Amino acid sequence: MRIDQALARARLHGVDRLDAQLLLGHLLGKPRAWLLAHDGQDLTAGQAKAYELGLQRRGSGEPLAYVLGEWPFCGLSLQVSPDVLVPRPETEDLVAWARECLADATVATAPRVVDLGTGSGAIALALARRCPQAALWGTDRSAAALAVAAANGRRLGLPVTWLQGDWWAPLQGRRFELAVSNPPYVAGDDPHLDALGHEPRGALTPEGDGLAALRQIIEGAPAHLAPGAWLLLEHGHDQAEAVRSLLDAAGFRSTATRADLAGLPRCTGARWPGAK
Ligand code: GLN
Repeated sequence: MRIDQALARARLHGVDRLDAQLLLGHLLGKPRAWLLAHDGQDLTAGQAKAYELGLQRRGSGEPLAYVLGEWPFCGLSLQVSPDVLVPRPETEDLVAWARECLADATVATAPRVVDLGTGSGAIALALARRCPQAALWGTDRSAAALAVAAANGRRLGLPVTWLQGDWWAPLQGRRFELAVSNPPYVAGDDPHLDALGHEPRGALTPEGDGLAALRQIIEGAPAHLAPGAWLLLEHGHDQAEAVRSLLDAAGFRSTATRADLAGLPRCTGARWPGAK
């Protein structure tokens, strides 16, 4: 089978042409542009078989990230499995904001940074890569997710301390200059969850109104933040006001919300002034 024929088969499986190109490029170890310039080239029997299997998986609704086993985030290639949420582009905005906080001269020169509910390790690893002066921690209650995160850290040669437990639980006695989290925030009855059935439900929703994890993180934060520390949280497009109220009620200052590329309020952050 030639490359052009292979790409044409995508439609039979209901797979987008772009996804088919990414799948085939991944199998051949070539960029998309190469495929277009070499579309008369034949696939080996092994390549054709692996490609067909990938089309079937993608066609049945599995995220392309799981089919490929890796996914880009902030310029890193992260290995992903169904044990972790697929890193989303909107979470790159949270990383950009965190980098701004770390570049702020009033933050310690060797800041301690934690990513709560790290999943694949995406946020922690992106910050470890971009801010080598920072010391990074990543927590997750899922041992399977932490194994993915730790493997990503080893493969990328990025030092992060991985600890298992709910939110702040494994961090007794530790304080940080920056805490970031993309927790589960989708409401338990959100119909949007149906389309996300391949991802770990616990990484998407805390059930109920979707605010339980955000609330727990905010309530636990004062015991774990140094004076002047930032807490940055990703949340649902309709949760900014609720998150701001929770932060204000907990005694945070300088509360601000940022929009994602689609213009939706997606991240809210605030600064911890120190002991009340
Ligand atoms: N942004 C994701 C989605 O709606 C949800 C991620 C999360 O719950 N943290 O697909």
